[in-house]
Amino acid sequence: MEENRVKIAIQKKGRLFDESIRLLKQCGIKFRIDSKTLMTSALNLPLDILFVRDDDIPTLVMDGVCDLGIVGQNELLEKQLDKQSGNSDVEIVNKLGFGRCRLSLAFPKKREFKDVTCANDSTIATSYPKLLQQFLDKNNISAKILTISGSVEIAPKLNMADAICDLVSTGRTLEENDLREVMPVLESEAVLIKKIDCSVEINEIIELLDKRMKSVIKARGSKYIMFHAPKAALDDIEKILPGSEKPTIMTLDGETDKVAVHVVSSEGVFWDTLESLKQAGASSILVVPIEKMLE
Ligand code: ATP
Ligand code: ZN
Repeated sequence: MEENRVKIAIQKKGRLFDESIRLLKQCGIKFRIDSKTLMTSALNLPLDILFVRDDDIPTLVMDGVCDLGIVGQNELLEKQLDKQSGNSDVEIVNKLGFGRCRLSLAFPKKREFKDVTCANDSTIATSYPKLLQQFLDKNNISAKILTISGSVEIAPKLNMADAICDLVSTGRTLEENDLREVMPVLESEAVLIKKIDCSVEINEIIELLDKRMKSVIKARGSKYIMFHAPKAALDDIEKILPGSEKPTIMTLDGETDKVAVHVVSSEGVFWDTLESLKQAGASSILVVPIEKMLE
């Protein structure tokens, strides 16, 4: 039935596009896209995927055009503040672990910054006027907000503004424009958002998708570690393994002092961990990625 298909809005192109597609594919959803696709229907689930500008995603979900959306918290919060009454129409289902960035106040390098009061009486350019206003109010700062939709970082050079409030991840763009980050306003990452009042049928499909997403995200950070170790070293070795569950210990044919150990580690496994394992007596260490994980 037409109305029992879930509609999800994702970014058409930009920083969230690749990871959004990868996540859906890893959830086992099969679909075809090309660069002109505006909407596509999954072949193996009642799911339609809409490709839109990220700015439109919160509103599409708030207005009920879509049931789900993948969008940065920065966009979501800005649109919620803008709509005010719309706050209750949409909820965050899950954080997705990509698209991490922060909305920050940045000053030209040559402009003095001691604390946030240095922003008083300034003009600040941003694409996030509502979030900025909230931040200024909280800090009792009075400043003029200049709303521009792109290339905010050139505003000080053009003498349009004294400072900016923009998204930062590495800080390279700021550096290139002789700006420096002076204060964070908001930490953000991509989230799955959902219309609150979906039908039971729609909710069932959303729940399935959410469970799969959680399992994919959990598996991404996890590794399966296998090695051989002297029985006597097991206590020491367990202390080294990061965020691991109880290991599976197996006997090795013809060995009395050595065992094989298999363990799932929920944290990244770095070289220094492997080196410590080796020092503690482990050998033949294998680390393999985990594709899916169901509790
Ligand atoms: P659209 O055409 O969809 O409106 P856009 O230019 O507004 O695209 P992008 O630059 O692709 O958007 O960023 C999309 C989202 O990616 C941001 O809203 C933010 O949540 C996240 N993001 C992560 N790192 C950064 C960064 N360094 N700069 C900007 N956005 C970032
Ligand atoms: Zn945008």
